Amino acid sequence: MKLTDSVQFLKGVGPKAAENFHKLGLFTLEDLLLYFPFRYEDFASRSVFDLLDGEKATISGEVVTPANVQYYGFKRNRLTFKIKQEEAVIGVSFFNQPYLADKVVVGQEIAIYGKWEQKKQQLSGIKIIVSTDKTEDGLGFEPVYHLVAGLKQATLVKAIQQVLDDGLLDQLEENLPVYLLKKYRLMSRREAVQAMHFPKDMEAHKQALRRVKFEELFLFQLKLQALKNKEKTGQTGLQIVFNDKEVADKIAQLPYELTGGQSSALTEILNDMSSPYHMNRLLQGDVGSGKTVVASLAMYAACLANYQAAIMVPTEILARQHVANLRQLFPELKIALLVSGLKAAEKRQTLEEIATGRSHMIVGTHALIQNDVNYYRLGLVVTDEQHRFGVNQRKVFREKGQNPDVLMMTATPIPRTLAITAFGDMDVSIINELPKGRQPITTRWIKHEQFDEVLKWIKDELQNGAQVYFISPLIEESEALDLKNAVALYDELTDYFGLFAKIGLLHGKMKADEKDQVMQDFKARKLDILVSTTVIEVGVDVPNATIMVIMDADRFGLSQLHQLRGRVGRGSKKSYTILVANPKSETGKQRMKIMTETQNGFTLAEEDLKMRGSGEIFGIRQSGIPEFLVADLVDDYNILEVARSEAAGIFKHSEDFKDLLARIDVNGGFD
Ligand code: ADP
Ligand code: MG
Repeated sequence: MKLTDSVQFLKGVGPKAAENFHKLGLFTLEDLLLYFPFRYEDFASRSVFDLLDGEKATISGEVVTPANVQYYGFKRNRLTFKIKQEEAVIGVSFFNQPYLADKVVVGQEIAIYGKWEQKKQQLSGIKIIVSTDKTEDGLGFEPVYHLVAGLKQATLVKAIQQVLDDGLLDQLEENLPVYLLKKYRLMSRREAVQAMHFPKDMEAHKQALRRVKFEELFLFQLKLQALKNKEKTGQTGLQIVFNDKEVADKIAQLPYELTGGQSSALTEILNDMSSPYHMNRLLQGDVGSGKTVVASLAMYAACLANYQAAIMVPTEILARQHVANLRQLFPELKIALLVSGLKAAEKRQTLEEIATGRSHMIVGTHALIQNDVNYYRLGLVVTDEQHRFGVNQRKVFREKGQNPDVLMMTATPIPRTLAITAFGDMDVSIINELPKGRQPITTRWIKHEQFDEVLKWIKDELQNGAQVYFISPLIEESEALDLKNAVALYDELTDYFGLFAKIGLLHGKMKADEKDQVMQDFKARKLDILVSTTVIEVGVDVPNATIMVIMDADRFGLSQLHQLRGRVGRGSKKSYTILVANPKSETGKQRMKIMTETQNGFTLAEEDLKMRGSGEIFGIRQSGIPEFLVADLVDDYNILEVARSEAAGIFKHSEDFKDLLARIDVNGGFD
């Protein structure tokens, strides 16, 4: 038999069972070999003193009484005997398995897997593991596999056992370089596969798992890095030629000096753009670090080279904010706004201006990637708050135009673990400082009972000219309830402050121009308080606002809270965030506490990752990270790091690893 043979030809697997195998993605014998159990039934012997009532476990001991079989009723019988484990004598019983009597020999060691009945001090036997003496290594684990309806555990185990017994393992080729096996003392692939299914003990299983995790992460890293190299050397990118001096002049006109982080990020981006390579870069910087101006200058450079530049943002509020910014920065350029809320005539005209190249910069929501949008000469696409977009949306965006350079921005810090996985095929620029003169934001967690005190304090602050955000409680399942909450909060605050404060309301159901008007009014300080749902979560920039109050803050995730908090502390004035919450759960309390302790987005992201696991965080599901079969991004962080650096080493000496590299499929990308 060969590894490529169909599972259908195994003994005991007919066409019907084969179909069930197919449902699990198992077509060939090789598939079967590489289908690992997700856990093991542990048959290692336990001490009877450690067992809990009802627990299933294996107990071994010396048989002290012969087996006695009692028959009662029709075809029913019970086999009983006693074993001695150290000081304890334990009764064992098996129902309707009289033939087991042969295996019970007084004076011999026996191991029985069964259910412990504390009261009776008795093991209700399920099976006998070994009937011989201790030295035989039959005690151990039995694999447990994920199944589909109609497929039995035993069928699968037998099928895999058959493939192993037929010696097919010998056909499985090593896929890691030998020097790595030596360096990290990894099992060979054959050993590991054998031990993944039927480990002879805990240690063998541990080593097998270490090997297959390394393999999975290493091959993944090779592929990521191969993709990255392909983009680099493909010469397929645009060479965007602009005049450095004109960019420098623009920088000199800014009302502030760029921070060191902003300057170096910009330099990296501009270098990529002016090279013939295709830029694929992620700009990472904590909330408020000033990514917008960096992107704006990159877009400016593209325009200087007679290309169009487009920036896609997740909300219309943010789109309008960016348009206003860009128009102020670049009065000489024509900047188009494309959002779904445009009137038909307006939209037609905008599309026309984009298609004929009369618009230099285009700002919009996902409206930018619709079929009806044709660009004239698109040189640079920027995605702001990239984590808010799906993999496909980002992909469609960069496939607009003739392979434009790509810049993605994220204010949501991505933990290092995930960054090197998700974005291993991208270059990363990091802005690791905030503009000068920013004061740390003070974050307080209060209970609902203290809300009145907070309102009193806010009254004082309003008198001193502060502007305040109130975020209404998040109801994820229901937009209608969300809205109701916002309105209720608005009413409550209107009652409380009366004529003392001008209060605005913002929520997702409002028409675009209404939202715009409220935002404008808040920015222009015509409003003192803005009550809002999470529609302002990302990007919104009103530097004069210094207080952020988040109601029922425990309903929000850490990253969301961090983003919301990032709406204040954007100017030189002292800012505050008040979390109002009476969390019931421990993690809820912990989250509130962490928020008051750190303002560092990366620390928070790591904490969030620990609390929620890699699957949940930051829209990771959308970010294009493949699901791993055996590795876990959080737990196996160390392996991931090693795998990454070893993969990089392979590319440094790619001549020596032609065979290995030839096997990597760079066409099926991740994103
Ligand atoms: P984010 O990185 O969160 O998108 P923004 O780009 O919105 O941050 O910038 C936050 C605020 O900081 C804006 O008001 C912006 O004008 C201001 N800003 C940006 N760069 C600087 C700088 N170098 N010095 C002072 N203020 C700056
Ligand atoms: Mg931003």
